[in-house]
Amino acid sequence: MTRPRALAHPCGGNNEGDRVMRGDAGEAVTSAAGQLATATHCPYCALQCGIELENAASGWILTARDFPTNRGGLCQKGWTAAELLTSPERLQTPLVRDRRDAPLRPATWDDALDRIAHAIRRLQRAYGRDAIGVFGSGSLTNEKAYLLGKFARVALRTSQIDYNGRFCMASAAAGAVGAFGLDRGLPFPLSDVASAGAILLVGSNLAETMPPVMQHFEEQRRRGGAVIVADPRLTPTAAAATLHLQLTPGTDTALLNGLLHIAIQAGAVAEPFIAQRTTGFDAVRRVAASYWPARVERITGVPEAQLRAAARLMWSAPTAMVLTARGTEQQSHGVDNVRACINLALALGLPGTPGCGYGCLTGQGNGQGGREHGQKTDQLPGYRRLDDEAHRAYIAGIWGVAAKDLPRPGRSAYELLATMGTDEGVRALLVFGSNPVISSPRAGHIEQRFAALDFLVVADFFLSETAALADVVLPSAQWAEEDGTMTNLEGRVILRQRAAEPPEGVRTDLDIIAALGARLGCAAHFPRDAETIFEELRRASAGGVADYAGITYERLRDGDGLFWPCPSTDHPGTPRLFLSRFATDDGRARFQAVQHRPPAEEPNDDYPFYLTTGRVLAQYQSGTQTRRVPALLKAAPQPFVQVHPSAADTLGISHGDCVQVTTRRGTAQLVAHLSGAVRMDTLFVPFHYPGTGRANLLTNPALDPVSRMPEFKVCAARLEKDTRC
Ligand code: SF4
Repeated sequence: MTRPRALAHPCGGNNEGDRVMRGDAGEAVTSAAGQLATATHCPYCALQCGIELENAASGWILTARDFPTNRGGLCQKGWTAAELLTSPERLQTPLVRDRRDAPLRPATWDDALDRIAHAIRRLQRAYGRDAIGVFGSGSLTNEKAYLLGKFARVALRTSQIDYNGRFCMASAAAGAVGAFGLDRGLPFPLSDVASAGAILLVGSNLAETMPPVMQHFEEQRRRGGAVIVADPRLTPTAAAATLHLQLTPGTDTALLNGLLHIAIQAGAVAEPFIAQRTTGFDAVRRVAASYWPARVERITGVPEAQLRAAARLMWSAPTAMVLTARGTEQQSHGVDNVRACINLALALGLPGTPGCGYGCLTGQGNGQGGREHGQKTDQLPGYRRLDDEAHRAYIAGIWGVAAKDLPRPGRSAYELLATMGTDEGVRALLVFGSNPVISSPRAGHIEQRFAALDFLVVADFFLSETAALADVVLPSAQWAEEDGTMTNLEGRVILRQRAAEPPEGVRTDLDIIAALGARLGCAAHFPRDAETIFEELRRASAGGVADYAGITYERLRDGDGLFWPCPSTDHPGTPRLFLSRFATDDGRARFQAVQHRPPAEEPNDDYPFYLTTGRVLAQYQSGTQTRRVPALLKAAPQPFVQVHPSAADTLGISHGDCVQVTTRRGTAQLVAHLSGAVRMDTLFVPFHYPGTGRANLLTNPALDPVSRMPEFKVCAARLEKDTRC
């Protein structure tokens, strides 16, 4: 097969797209050149920007599409996404290792799959069913997430499955379920942002993580709206805001309780809404009483005047939103932080009111759908629970197995990884679409745990840092080479339709799972075709919280997607949730009182800085894909630490110096970037890079007690000049 050549993106990476063609998802449209293009979506983040992709004789042509989330815009990652389809680094044959200390070598698919099936049987015979673990991803399509969860429970019958979304979405999900009875990142369409009079963004740097979304915020500002950003750094998002609250890392709950205190004292809370639509406010009011502004200023470092200004902006606007992201969620008290945000939103009467609300800005491409359909360790499809007997019975019926044979919930992602190769942990792991050697906290320790496994399998497009450790590497198809649905940050289910066949030697993840299922004696349970699997997913989700029963490929081809719940094929979908009732038993939202508690580590004489981690504009997640795009690597070539010039001066560090950042977990070698955008007591390191510059060599795996999400965003660190450079 002739492999097409990727074309350069047309704009060099700004946010403005060419509004050249209009097509609905999966629909083939005719380009200006008269050739057929496929209307689809960017493979990266949860904005799932609309694009058109044409497999022309001259190579791939990618153009932006006028889809509701991106309105014709793309970021540099999106513009260059098609280059990876023809990357020379792409895996195109399975690789196997004959001994743990032998190099990887090419193998046939039969050999690779037979080795995996043999290892699974051998290890389960020796150690029991839970000897095999599965690690999924928030980038997998709904069909893959569904089939992977089913594979673990039906073919492997292991309880040990979780996914990297545990590192991204678990705290927001737990907070939302507790308050509203349901977790859908945004319970309203993104277009509602423009009609919000005030928006409080807590721990989000949208201008760098998903730039085209800023169009919605720019429209909101044009209409006279205000944006308040709470972030320890003056990010591009904060710089564009009406007000920036530069809080001390790990003090989010105190900040939110303080804003609520001011609103209560001013008599600005929505008493009728609280009385009619919520429960539990009295306890929250009592807790908030002790968060007077001067105390909150001492805890958070945010001046009292700014606290009062922010609270006033929120309550005086006719419509308002509170939106959270990883900055506040990736903490050992991340669920409490989310609860505090929701408490403020409820007290102001926002959720369930048009143009208002609380929402979480999901990060990974299918971070929403990936947490709905069963790859989470405690979960069954449709947001059903593995510890609920009725839910188990329903899904067992769909799968044609006995409910008693379904495993119980297993370990959360970090706990699964941290116990690999130990007496109580898994002996083998199957990894799909994830690179935990880069993305897991305390990554040096996790790398050692990978080395202690008896058997590791990784399915990926490239030889990621995790794949490089595997006994078997399976080359999988990319986004443009397979069909599948994604659920974006709004809860909008969309179709990504195949624009080309995978290269010879490459298989889809669905095909791989089905082939393994067949080798384990379960062929009938595992179809390979995406639409067939989606039909089964529809039945499995029917009547569940995330009900996809009324969503079909045909309907998705005909429009801009459908919002769940969508219980029947004549249902229009549900863009706005909670308008008349919340999804709790009594229909009321629940306040949940929370106190400020410090992060698991705070600075001391040995580790005098806070360390926080995050993303940069030109890279995505562990960088497995974006570090392989020349333009993106050129734009963001190496790991660095952002440090305030005054702090650097006291340490004799200049811009561009080689430095070391050390925490109780390890040391990273980085380049110093001096910037007044970061607090004097805080260091920032991006987490996209491998080797000795890995941010996650440093991060603290302290887990939130409810969500089991690690504390990526706060730990104590030391900064030194690296004299070896
Ligand atoms: S990475 Fe996200 S923001 Fe950028 S083009 Fe892709 S979907 Fe859009």
